[in-house]
Amino acid sequence: MRDDSIQTGGVETGGAPLRSRQSARADSALARLSRDVTGALLHDLAVPTGHSPLVQRRRAGLIVSRVRWVAAVFAILTPLWIGVDLTIFPEPLAWWLAGLRVMASAAFAAVALGFRNTESMRTANLALGALLAVPTVFFLISDPLVSGYEITGYAQALAAGYAFLPFVMVAGLSVFPITASEGAIFSAPLILATIGIVLGDFELLPFRTYLGALWLLGLIAVVATLAGMSQLHFMMQLVNQASHDALTQVYTRRVGEELLDSQFSTAARSGVPLALAFLDLDNFKMVNDRYGHEEGDNTLRKATEQIRKVVRRGDIVIRWGGEEFLVVMPGTDGPGARVAIERLRAEGLGTRPDGARQTASIGVAERLSDNTTDWGDLVERADQRMYVAKKGGRDRVVTIGDEMFQ
Ligand code: GH3
Ligand code: MG
Ligand code: MG
Repeated sequence: MRDDSIQTGGVETGGAPLRSRQSARADSALARLSRDVTGALLHDLAVPTGHSPLVQRRRAGLIVSRVRWVAAVFAILTPLWIGVDLTIFPEPLAWWLAGLRVMASAAFAAVALGFRNTESMRTANLALGALLAVPTVFFLISDPLVSGYEITGYAQALAAGYAFLPFVMVAGLSVFPITASEGAIFSAPLILATIGIVLGDFELLPFRTYLGALWLLGLIAVVATLAGMSQLHFMMQLVNQASHDALTQVYTRRVGEELLDSQFSTAARSGVPLALAFLDLDNFKMVNDRYGHEEGDNTLRKATEQIRKVVRRGDIVIRWGGEEFLVVMPGTDGPGARVAIERLRAEGLGTRPDGARQTASIGVAERLSDNTTDWGDLVERADQRMYVAKKGGRDRVVTIGDEMFQ
């Protein structure tokens, strides 16, 4: 809308010079882009619903491996305190606490050993939930137990330590790459447990101190969640960098294959189409030979910018080889893919250093029409059609059935 008004304004008054109109348009495009990027980023840091499959998998792996480490450390540390409890606390209480510690240690060990490294966020959430459930239950039993005894002297200081358990656990959330909503969900049971202890009259500390402590617990939850969010941000940046080709900013082949694999199984499960376009730039070697590698790189970059501009948001662009690209179009059938590719050809793939159009030979394949159950096979078909397009004279698209007429 803003773009239009800038354009028409310039035309109607006839006043704005072309350059300033262009720069105004570029500015507004930049503003829109930065708004989109910031909006998308904030959304990704707030809730997990929009994360890319790649981020989801890496995050799940990271959370589970950290849960297992933390659980293993606590499985070892928890029983070590039994000696201290036995020396400081009166007899039956000390033994109750010792028994409780042995059980907590066993539960931590079960979490450490029970969860295998995974790529599923569901399992990761379960693992984190289980890790936090152990000390929450420990706290809910130990705190009323300790509060039932008259404790004096040094032992009082140690007894207070039992009341601090929720603080340690909430602060511990900071080692996980989590969103704001997950921070709230995972710290809620610990905060509620503390409120429950106060309402149940099991305080180990004076009531007023508890109110202050609750306030502090809330603040720690916020700070730990922010730390977790910054971990998530860092992780998303790393995933993004590692998965994108430095020159063209599209997916690398390694990551592209992973994405294609998961998109293919999703499409197969739900019986929907999935189209592929295999693009190979025409006579590209000549650009390097005549104008040098740097100009070649620029031409390559411009061509990918065009591809990225034209494809849909859910489409995946992969640099398959040097000047070969694969566009994965989930939910798109053969004719739909043809429309998309014709749109790309109409927009063009940018220009070569001599000003001539950069063209490409393109082969299209589609899961249902090509009747294939294997994504490697589908890529092979698209690649073969690309060769048919090359043999047919370059600068053309060959889709399902077309090869028979070449
Ligand atoms: P055709 O129309 O048959 O595809 O001809 P072509 O010259 O494009 O094909 P060929 O496969 O012989 O050449 C591809 C060239 O792409 C070879 C290589 O020099 C160039 N190339 C591959 N990757 C890069 C890159 O990252 N930068 C630059 N500048 N050139 C690259
Ligand atoms: Mg090639
Ligand atoms: Mg080529």
